[in-house]
Amino acid sequence: MKNTILLCGIASLFSVTSNFNAFHQLYTTPNTPTKKYIKAKDLLRYDKLLEEFGNYKTLPAGFELQALVALSHFPELKNEQIEFQFKKRKVAHSSSPSFSSVFKKPNSRKYIITISTQTKKGLESTRLVNLSYNAQIGVLGHELAHIVDYQDLNFTGLLKFGLHYIREKDIITTENNTDKMTINHGLGYQLLAWSKEVHDLHIEDGRGDRYLSPKQIVDLIDKNPLYQAP
Ligand SMILES: [Zn+2]
Repeated sequence: MKNTILLCGIASLFSVTSNFNAFHQLYTTPNTPTKKYIKAKDLLRYDKLLEEFGNYKTLPAGFELQALVALSHFPELKNEQIEFQFKKRKVAHSSSPSFSSVFKKPNSRKYIITISTQTKKGLESTRLVNLSYNAQIGVLGHELAHIVDYQDLNFTGLLKFGLHYIREKDIITTENNTDKMTINHGLGYQLLAWSKEVHDLHIEDGRGDRYLSPKQIVDLIDKNPLYQAP
């Protein structure tokens, strides 16, 4: 989301049985959309999720399960170092390569997802702690989608990306595309839950165009074969 990539740009300047098979297939098809994740059910598979998607990750205290469910939709991030941090930030969530790894090769980088402990006035309700379980998974998925984008960028690419992210037009394009990637990774319903809870606040904050509206998300889900019943 907003300041994240800008910060990155500035930083860059400086510096079984058939049953088992069915279960296994379900479990290892991370892009399969789930209309509503149930926390109590997810807790039962916590150890499995941690084993498969928790490597090289520093999970956010108190939100480990939500982060792991979101990570399960991004198998391409299995071997990436990702640290979730809590800090006072104007916007609720952000992501970027760590300062020290901006100059490193993409496969040696560490990425930071920052979860705000105190946002600017008017955005408190958008903080992770104030969202529903599915919306939490959705917004963490959005931040992971940013990291998928960073994976493909070398130093120059990151620099350009950071510099372009200053322009509102480019921010809108980047954030809209990140929402679309989140939907394409099977987290459309969770992104929708998030959008329903925060979109009006983003509009009031003058950032309504940056993120897809609930209606836009529903339209994309309806058109996406991933979401069609078999
Ligand atoms: Zn974003």
